[in-house]
Amino acid sequence: MRIVFLGPPGSGKGTQAQILAQKRKIPQISSGDLLREAVLKETPAGKKAKEYMDKGALVPDEVVIELVGERIRNERAFILDGFPRNVQQAEKLDELLSELHLPLDGVLNVEVPLEKLIERLSGRLTCSQCKAIYHVKYNPPRKKGVCDACGGVLFQRSDDTEAAITHRFETYKNQTEPLIRYYKKRGNLITVDGTLTIDGISREIEERLREHGI
Ligand code: AMP
Repeated sequence: MRIVFLGPPGSGKGTQAQILAQKRKIPQISSGDLLREAVLKETPAGKKAKEYMDKGALVPDEVVIELVGERIRNERAFILDGFPRNVQQAEKLDELLSELHLPLDGVLNVEVPLEKLIERLSGRLTCSQCKAIYHVKYNPPRKKGVCDACGGVLFQRSDDTEAAITHRFETYKNQTEPLIRYYKKRGNLITVDGTLTIDGISREIEERLREHGI
């Protein structure tokens, strides 16, 4: 299975991508996680990416394409989370996948209204080790500040601040939302209601994938 997850910041697409990847036993490839890792390791890509990420802006295409492309080349099945983020990246992905003879099976678009997104992002916590995602209100860890899955320390992302969140929404509207039309035109867009509970969204995703024979 090869799937792309689309959705605004805070839509829960990362959480759903993790759940689906675990169920289907395939890798979840998150461009945000790859970039955060590069920033931590202070690689050349990480050094270029940091200032854009802190502002909530998109990292230049060539940096992200290189990072994600390298990761995809080793896989036959995957769930892409956070990539592509604009039409140029989607075109590059198409080129790469057609070169590898691995077409996309579908694009899952997680829809959530703006008011809900702000509330979700401002309470989000991420595990520093396994990248599991929690929420102080909607999905709290059993022990405060500690990951249920691996015992790692939970942190709030530096771009989950109000100024960066506002910028990330604008970036999404201007650059990422046009991808909904891009994939709709090709007939492989599957839209799901992202306002449900985490389990509710996963069930809807499974049902819709089944309907599409994926
Ligand atoms: P995410 O974890 O997907 O919310 O991504 C966090 C940040 O990483 C974004 O706000 C961007 O600065 C950067 N980023 C992640 N994926 C991409 C991408 N496909 N293209 C450009 N920048 C990205």
